[in-house]
Amino acid sequence: MVPPPRKSEIPKIEISPRGAKRLKSGHLWVYRSDLISADNIPPGSLVTVTDQRGKDLGTALYSSSSQIAIRVLAHELVPDLPALLRRRISEAVSYREKFVRDTNAYRLIFSEADFLPGLIVDRYNDILSFQVLTQAFDAASVRETVVSELVAQLKPAAVVERVDARVRELESLSPRASGLVHGEKAATIFTMNGVQFHFDALEGQKTGAFLDQRENYAAAAQYAHGDALDIFCYQGGFALHLAKVCARVTGVDSSRPALEVADQNATLNQREIEWIEANAFDLLKDYSASKQLYDTIVLDPPAFAKTKRDLDSALRGYKELNLRALKMVRPGGILVTCSCSYHVSQATLLEMLSAAALDAHRTLRLLELRGQAKDHPVLLNMPETAYLKCLIAYVT
Ligand code: SAH
Repeated sequence: MVPPPRKSEIPKIEISPRGAKRLKSGHLWVYRSDLISADNIPPGSLVTVTDQRGKDLGTALYSSSSQIAIRVLAHELVPDLPALLRRRISEAVSYREKFVRDTNAYRLIFSEADFLPGLIVDRYNDILSFQVLTQAFDAASVRETVVSELVAQLKPAAVVERVDARVRELESLSPRASGLVHGEKAATIFTMNGVQFHFDALEGQKTGAFLDQRENYAAAAQYAHGDALDIFCYQGGFALHLAKVCARVTGVDSSRPALEVADQNATLNQREIEWIEANAFDLLKDYSASKQLYDTIVLDPPAFAKTKRDLDSALRGYKELNLRALKMVRPGGILVTCSCSYHVSQATLLEMLSAAALDAHRTLRLLELRGQAKDHPVLLNMPETAYLKCLIAYVT
């Protein structure tokens, strides 16, 4: 057995006062521009972070290529990395046991929010799907510890790795294919809020769900009624929930493969839903011009603002969608409007919606200001962990 590294064997990285201030405020990242000395540190190393006076600020994972050079793993010294990983996984599992209800699909590990920066694990019934986002979590020994611990604690039928080629490129990691790393089973059916969904990790276009919207689906269904339109419906998350309470539901998305799974999901739940393959901007323009009316409209677009620089154009996009949708909501109807862009704050989204309401000559009363489901915890001292907004409004 390899003896655990002694304190002196763990490389040290000195960071600037600005970097130190950030860590002392409870944040877990240090940017490359705040490193003072990081020579000859191997990619993905476990490191001790110190300020310029030599004071230890915690143990972290180092990336030699990302702008986020350091991600803190623990505030204390970590003599035994596998033991820490196992403990963190147990803590993440018990958090979900406490707070996640009515589903067998949820995010089991959410990177920084579970103090496992660079690791995402989702559970879809009896299949676990994981993604590594950093050099440290890609190391063979770390992967082995993580996978064997997940298998020991959760006893899944299978574990699959989902690879994001762009993330691997950013971390200077060699390309790798998505695939099974444990067990044989790659497809299953999962249930959330009593609604069933197909999950297939390997066939055709990989499926998966926007698990972060799970609690918002249930909330939207509490207010939804009449004729409903789910724009950016993907595999039918909102639409299938609305179909339980609405007279007629239409889902719109530009992705045909997503709509094919959505249709299979409707059959699985014995619901009739109309699916339309279209560009949402064009469809809303046509529908609002031809004065089509709905009682419930859901807007859940992809992240328009991927960086701060995109903010202005993103807000124009959100406003156009919301303005057109508001013109199409019958008096007494419901608008559910979402943004998953971290760079668009809740305040900014509300400002945009107020402006759209004025332009559409509608009055909005906010029923709910919501965020991501509890299995995607928000770490209070790290704003980047909060990204999803979901507003539900009564429209007159
Ligand atoms: N509401 C979904 C998640 C939506 S994700 C759920 O809860 O599961 C965003 C979706 O927008 C994706 O399915 C993507 O295919 C779709 N999309 C992206 N740009 C689009 C456009 N211009 N018009 C229509 N759909 C679009």
